[in-house]
Amino acid sequence: MSFAVAIDGPSGAGKSSLAKKLALHYGLLYIDTGAMYRAIALYAMRRGVDPHDHARVIPLLEEVHLELRHAHAEQRIEMNGEDVTKEVRREEVGMGAAAVSSCPQVRTFLVEWQRSLAKQENIIMDGRDIGTVVLPDAQVKIFLTASAAVRAQRRYLELCEKGVDTTYEKVLALVEKRDYEDTHREQSPLCQAQDAVLVDTSDCDFDEAFRRLCSVIDRKRKDG
Ligand code: C5P
Repeated sequence: MSFAVAIDGPSGAGKSSLAKKLALHYGLLYIDTGAMYRAIALYAMRRGVDPHDHARVIPLLEEVHLELRHAHAEQRIEMNGEDVTKEVRREEVGMGAAAVSSCPQVRTFLVEWQRSLAKQENIIMDGRDIGTVVLPDAQVKIFLTASAAVRAQRRYLELCEKGVDTTYEKVLALVEKRDYEDTHREQSPLCQAQDAVLVDTSDCDFDEAFRRLCSVIDRKRKDG
């Protein structure tokens, strides 16, 4: 059986940057499942379909062909042959992703793909339901979190660096809205798996968070 590390948690907790570094450190394939939900949302938006309108999103699943490409722990995502890695990161696509992700058919479609990827390789996969639904038998499960205020502050600084005109209050409101949607949906709501290790990064920097995660993974590997 292949080796799997599952990392779940709210948006902005640092899952993807930490998972990428862990992937390089342990020689694992990094799979960012959020990008998959984002790509479905982007496809719907481009077709003029509201991501909340699930009855119109479902038929699109037959038209959209997604593929992942990997190089040096970076994941690129292609949608019908077009590289949309950068475009799916847009804020409104993230909100669209939260809307399509409450559709059971979308979840089934993506979960099947995620499980098949995990069978082929040793992976580190991040998302909201990896330890609870996608890979309940993952050898390592981590629930990575930080307070909403800290996550909003980090996101706000990132956006300022990119020259985006926004305010901390606006970013905090979006973070809280996404948290609410992710934790209150009927389908696979975001929650900590019973056997996941909780890592809160509110009070630590990236390097310290990385060290904490390594110690969780090393301990699990040693215990077998
Ligand atoms: O992680 P990221 O912010 O890219 O995810 C975008 C949205 O996709 C999340 O807010 C969540 O609603 C949804 N998602 C999910 N299950 C996953 C990954 C992402 O529902 N495994």
